Amino acid sequence: MVCCFCAGCATTRRPVVPSGQPPGQPAVVISSAEEVQVGRSMAREIVAPRYVPWNNSVEQRRVNDIGRRLAAASDRRDIIYSFQILDSPDDNAFALPGGYVYIFRGLYEKLDEGGLAAVLAHQIAHVAARHVLKHMQSALGDEVLVGLVMAGLGRKDPEVSRQIAGASDAVFDLLGRGYSRQEELQADALAVKYLTRAGYDPYALAGVLESLMKEKGKTARTFEMLNAPVRTGERIRKIGQEADAGF
Ligand SMILES: [Zn+2]
Repeated sequence: MVCCFCAGCATTRRPVVPSGQPPGQPAVVISSAEEVQVGRSMAREIVAPRYVPWNNSVEQRRVNDIGRRLAAASDRRDIIYSFQILDSPDDNAFALPGGYVYIFRGLYEKLDEGGLAAVLAHQIAHVAARHVLKHMQSALGDEVLVGLVMAGLGRKDPEVSRQIAGASDAVFDLLGRGYSRQEELQADALAVKYLTRAGYDPYALAGVLESLMKEKGKTARTFEMLNAPVRTGERIRKIGQEADAGF
């Protein structure tokens, strides 16, 4: 169990047990400030060398506006979310700990405003419920997470660099395998809630999943958005039920 990542952090530490966390899973104990450092390290050391931002300030501003509106409607507002369109033709989106949310240009260009809001809401939900951080902790181990916190604080030494290099493949492998069934369903339900609160169509996420499934076939697997150990049809039904129930 991690109880302290860095002596210099003066933030209030509290155990974080996301609602809906499966029984028996370790509670994630890390401050929000430390989680942001982990995310910042991953963004800089792992995402930036692989992808470049899409150089389109108008579209980027649109994503920022919609993302911030949803973040303000989320259950977790103790961090500052950042949103970035990556210049890749893939139909993907993902998030890092601490509120770093990414959408690939390929998916972005297929979405209307409601669909874009739905995808961002789903990723914000994974951050808000700390699914990403929990996965990183269990896949990488506390030592690597400490290295990522240190790197986020600007410390560079051979040991930290070695840990980050080791984390890179693990992170993308992890994101490629997706989240657990329970986490995915929870992120969908939270996304419906955030969309409703922010004034967007709560059924939009079901629409996005439906059109991706139609386009790629029922067995299609994409990075994160359809790569869940739960059938997309079941997710669409449950999203509809959540939206019908309202908030
Ligand atoms: Zn997801």
